[in-house]
Amino acid sequence: MPETSKRIAIVCGTCGSDEVSRDAWANWDTRKQDWVLGAVFDYGHCHRCDGETRLIEVELASS
Ligand SMILES: [Zn+2]
Repeated sequence: MPETSKRIAIVCGTCGSDEVSRDAWANWDTRKQDWVLGAVFDYGHCHRCDGETRLIEVELASS
């Protein structure tokens, strides 16, 4: 966990939805017996727009 308490949302730059994914590799970890996130790529996908999008970070108000 980062030391800062700052929390962010990643949203679609087109419609503002947080139903977004990005292209990444999942690497098999034999010890954990699970897929773990490996490299994360720049391609962003919005499930609401159903296409490629620019992902933007939005800082959440601390509460
Ligand atoms: Zn969108």
